[in-house]
Amino acid sequence: MNQSTQYIIVGQGIGGTMVSYFLHKAGLDFIVIDPALPSNASRVAGGIINPVTGKKLAKSWRIDELQPFALKSYQEIGGLLGKELVLQTRVHRYHSNPEDATKFEEQAETQDWFDDYILPLQVNEPAINNTLGGFTISPALKIYGADLMDGWRDFLKQKGCFIQDSFEHTQLEVLPNSIRYKDIEAHKVIFCEGWGVQHNPWFKDLPFNAAKGEALVVKIEGLQPDEVYLKGVFLVPLGNGLYYIGSTNEWVFTDDYPSDHKREELERKLQKALNLPYKVLKHIAAVRPAVKNRRPLIGPHPQHSQLWLFNGLGTKGYSLSPFFANQLVTVLQGKGGLDVEVLLSESR
Ligand SMILES: Cc1cc2nc3c(=O)[nH]c(=O)nc-3n(C[C@H](O)[C@H](O)[C@H](O)COP(=O)(O)OP(=O)(O)OC[C@H]3O[C@@H](n4cnc5c(N)ncnc54)[C@H](O)[C@@H]3O)c2cc1C
Repeated sequence: MNQSTQYIIVGQGIGGTMVSYFLHKAGLDFIVIDPALPSNASRVAGGIINPVTGKKLAKSWRIDELQPFALKSYQEIGGLLGKELVLQTRVHRYHSNPEDATKFEEQAETQDWFDDYILPLQVNEPAINNTLGGFTISPALKIYGADLMDGWRDFLKQKGCFIQDSFEHTQLEVLPNSIRYKDIEAHKVIFCEGWGVQHNPWFKDLPFNAAKGEALVVKIEGLQPDEVYLKGVFLVPLGNGLYYIGSTNEWVFTDDYPSDHKREELERKLQKALNLPYKVLKHIAAVRPAVKNRRPLIGPHPQHSQLWLFNGLGTKGYSLSPFFANQLVTVLQGKGGLDVEVLLSESR
């Protein structure tokens, strides 16, 4: 049976979820295709939106706009799905060595945004080893990504616009002003495949710099609830005494499976940070679709304006995707332009 729609979305990680959500909100017609595998980068992610990151204690790119927009969007979808998807929280970050403390003092003296996001340490948590002091980053968000993606997939299934399958690139016909995929004719296809882009013949040669990441889910009794801790490794609350411990980074890898050496690294860091017993329940891994210049890659293919990409979310998919998915949908409606920094035509 032939079907027609305006947009085919390939992939339902956080990227495809947000693109399809804003298409739905704009009243546009679409079909999402995803194999619904148990794991993808968005499900392996900590789901943290942390405005001040890295060894250099840098304010995240455009976070003043991205974070409030993300909060509003996740609350809005949570309202639609009847689920609590966001925890408004803060990150208690402890210095791991004297250089961290020096960097903190340097940033405090030179950065005019510092007081907007940094407070003196707001908790006294005896279970975290605190020999060198630290500080609190606030506000921060924890997004319950699996609940969001599961709930959104069920919503799409009820609407009749979710196909549980892998998209076969060889089956795509590019017609003069539209595309055909098997029995579906559409105006455009928007690829949101995360690191699956490596198999996409139209977009795989963009300047990706993919990074494998691993994390643990552990049970810890006795930590103050709903607080995020960072000492060499993140301890992110998942509820009921469960914590996400992450994450690692590897730019040279041969698969996306959990590895013994990264589990050892994570446990070593956790033992250094925490003086409570813990039990490992799960060890997970995935590949981040990161880009050399650390900016998303969004826009049409240079030769085929029916083929679009929404990718390159790197280490920050949860903060970047609501804002830029909304921007993409505005552009598709002919109501605005994409920011030049994310345009894939600028990245070649
Ligand atoms: C260990 C780790 C920790 C992280 N922590 C955070 C964090 O705390 N905060 C944060 O913001 N970000 C974090 N990230 C980064 C974040 O996970 C990514 O930025 C984000 O998940 C990318 O989303 P995506 O939708 O582009 O890709 P994905 O989540 O990988 O989704 C892509 C989807 O497309 C599907 N797909 C691929 N190919 C096809 C095809 N041919 N046909 C159909 N479907 C296809 C896949 O099955 C998948 O479901 C972390 C990543 C890792 C690995």
